[in-house]
Formats: sequence, structure tokens, C-alpha cells
Amino acid sequence: MNFAVTYSRAQQSINAPLVTVEAHISPGLPQFSIVGLPETGIKESRDRVRSAIITSHFEFPYRRITINLGPADLPKEGARFDLATALAILSATQQIPPLSEDYEFIGELALSGEIRGVSGILSAAMAAKKAKKTLIIPEQNAREAALVQDLKFYSAKHLLQVCAHFKKETLLTLHPTSTIAEDLNIYPDIQDVKGQASAKRALLIAAAGGHNLLMSGPPGTGKTMLASRLPGILPPLSQDEALEIATLQSLKGIDLKVNSFYQRPFRTPHHTSSAVALVGGGSNPKPGEISLAHQGVLFMDELPEFDRKVLEVLREPIESGKIHIARAQHQVTYPAEFQLVAAMNPCPCGYLGSRKKSCRCSAQQIQRYRAKLSGPFLDRMDLYIEVADVPDTLLLNLPENNEDRSELLRNKVINARALQLTRQGKLNKNLTSKEIEQHCTLSMEQQIWLQNAFNQLQLSGRALHRLLKVARTIADLEASPGIEMLHLTEALSLRK
Ligand SMILES: [Zn+2]
Repeated sequence: MNFAVTYSRAQQSINAPLVTVEAHISPGLPQFSIVGLPETGIKESRDRVRSAIITSHFEFPYRRITINLGPADLPKEGARFDLATALAILSATQQIPPLSEDYEFIGELALSGEIRGVSGILSAAMAAKKAKKTLIIPEQNAREAALVQDLKFYSAKHLLQVCAHFKKETLLTLHPTSTIAEDLNIYPDIQDVKGQASAKRALLIAAAGGHNLLMSGPPGTGKTMLASRLPGILPPLSQDEALEIATLQSLKGIDLKVNSFYQRPFRTPHHTSSAVALVGGGSNPKPGEISLAHQGVLFMDELPEFDRKVLEVLREPIESGKIHIARAQHQVTYPAEFQLVAAMNPCPCGYLGSRKKSCRCSAQQIQRYRAKLSGPFLDRMDLYIEVADVPDTLLLNLPENNEDRSELLRNKVINARALQLTRQGKLNKNLTSKEIEQHCTLSMEQQIWLQNAFNQLQLSGRALHRLLKVARTIADLEASPGIEMLHLTEALSLRK
């Protein structure tokens, strides 16, 4: 026999489709060709596989070798098919026994035959488990693959170890998968933030309905501290959600930690971030900050300092919860269901309205600063609050308050979200115009009041919908079936 097949997995956004690696050895002039990889990857892959086979003291066949990676129309990138390719050649030349089709191989080969880690092993691990296959992967990736409970897999450092396993000389041992303690709540507690009762209230409402929040206030008022406490008042993650988050991080090459597996992400991109860093992309597409914040919080500090073009590309994913990245030959889609918390100073120097320091900005400077944020972008913020600085003397005299512990707020969020899911199958932030009409009904008196308020404040139609969704969330926090006047006025106060 001069033909062999092995199996591997490609990486396509967060999926890992099966790849068949066929090796055919035929008589003729020595030639080594690979079909099904992009041009740029072929030469490197050939060199690595050839050297790894030779330095591992196998014979590299001086005949015509054809490797076919299928399916042909599937975009394949990276060096992850090296191990499967080398094994297919060794099997086709009878240097190792025929390989069972129950196995799948992923790993890059070094010239020495060492097996190197690859990025994004988690989606391959989940796909292999689903297909009831046994995976052989680089040892570097073992800890990550072990997150997939009950996956059958081996890890190896060198091509020779894998060959010895199939020659039944030295068997690899099955790698245990981790048992992860669910919901380790290791978030910072919101109680650490002194004072700021109204900001905490806004954070609770944002968490309960999944709303976006913009905070404005002088430096040092605790905007970052407040934002970083939002993940801790969101409901615990399910295992599927946690795995999806870990997959996105794994694609980006972020080292996964078992003790933070069930943590909601909190991402803080710098205001100099490029559009690619924020939404993802690149020649070998990787998820950006918004996907790394999936099921968690994206905190954009100093919002007006972000490039306006960068902010514009955020508009679509804020609405849809996913991002499409168009490539030359294909399109990649990454989930990006994040909650946006943005912060800004009230003026360029930061101290407009501060009780600690006086502002030195001209009216024109202040206007130019605020104009950096486009109307359509601001329209996508549901809640807008001002965070004031509290004099130290006042903070020292604050009574001990046990009502705003993260745990208590989180329970309120869980209850309010449960009401939303029972009523409409989704969070209030995701209500469509039609569903708003259905679930956010107002009395005649409320409608007239709201119309007057809107005329006075000159708010847009989009703003009206956002306001109703927030009012619905405030009502849900009180388990109130209808929206009351009190809920409406609070919602309006959060939208100045
Ligand atoms: Zn100023």
C-alpha cells in the first residue's frame, strides 16, 4: 500500500471543521507536493515535515509524494496539519502501522521533530469530543484541551512519541480532563466603591437589562472601579457560555486559567486601539477586543479619545451581538455579545463641575471635545450618568452600608432577568420595535407626559425606544407587571 489517510481539524472562526490528509506515494522523480494549502504555507510546511521525518531517523521517501488536504474549498491556515501530514507519509510508506480513523491529530512540527503548540485548540477539542474521536495534540496545549470534560485525548512532545504509540512500543497515557469548580465568584466587590449610590443604581439597571452605560465625571471619581464591578453582578455563566468565551480567548492565544474559567470577561482596550484590535481581523483573522469581551464587559475609558472611525465600526456589533470580518476569499463571524460601559471626562482638562479643582477649558474646547462623539454612536448608549467627585470628609463619615454588596445586587439581576426571559425570551436590551409596543405599554397619561418630556429635551425616536426598554428593566427590578410613572421618570433621569 502506498496510500494513507489521517485526520485533523481546521480553524474557522470558532468552529473546527474536519480536514482529511491523504498521502499518496508513487514512483517517479522525487517530488513533494501539497494540495489544498494556501501557496504561502506550502513551502514552509514541506520543509518542516521533511526535516522532522529525517531527524527522527525515519526514511524520507525519494519518490513522488502528493499530500491532499481536503475539503479543497475550506480555507486552511497555519502549521497545525504538520503532524497529521508526517504521520500520513510514515503510514503510506509502512514505517508505522495503518492508523485507525478514530484518531485526529493537531500540531506543528519543528525541524527536530518536536511538536509545537497551536492556537485555538479548544474548538478542535470540542469538535473531536462531539464526533467521538480521540485527539493527539501538542503537550503545550494539553491544559487547554483538558477544559473539555470527558474528551479522550493524548498529548505528546515529539513525533517519535506518537509513532511509538502506534507501533505499540511505548503507549501514551490518556490525559485526564479537569473538573472545574463552577462559579468561583472572584470578582471585586462593588462595596469597595465608597458612596456613588446613584452610579451603583445605574450599574444595577444596566446589569439587569443588559444595557449599555456611559459615565461622565472628573478623574478619580471611581469610574473604572465601578465598571470593573459590573461582571460581578451579572448572573453566573453556563458551561457552554464559558467554553465559548474560552474558545475565543484560545483563538487569540490567551493563556487559559482554570480558576477563571467561569469568569465573565472584563476588557479595557486603550483609546489608541486600532479598528482591527477592537473588532478583529488581520490576514490570519483573530478575534478583537469586542469578541474577547463576549458575555462580559467592554470598558472604554476616555471614550472621546478613541478614533472616530474606530467608534463607527462598533455600531453594528453593538446592535447585532456579532461581527462579520470579510476576507479576500471567505468571511469570518465571531460572537461579540458584550455589554458596553464607556467613561469620559466632562471636558478636556477633566475638572468641569468638580468640587476639588477648577476647570481651565474654554467653552469652545469643551464643545469640540464633546463633538468627537457622533450622534449615532451616542444613540446606542442606553444609560447616561454623571459621576460626581465626593469630598473626602463626606466619604469618611459615610455610614456602613451592607445593602450594596455585589452578591445582593447579583440576586436582583438574576430575578429581573428571569422575568424578562419568561415574558419575551430575551433581555430587554434586545427587544425589537414591535416587541417594545407589546411589552412596554403606557397609559394615555404616561404617553402625554413622555411626549412633552421628549419635545423639551429634543430626543430622537431611537432614544424613545431605548428609554422604554430601560423603564421596562426598572419595572422588572421591582417585579412590577406594568411600567409605572416612577419607572419612567427614573429612566428619563438616566438619559440626560
Ligand atoms: Zn476643563
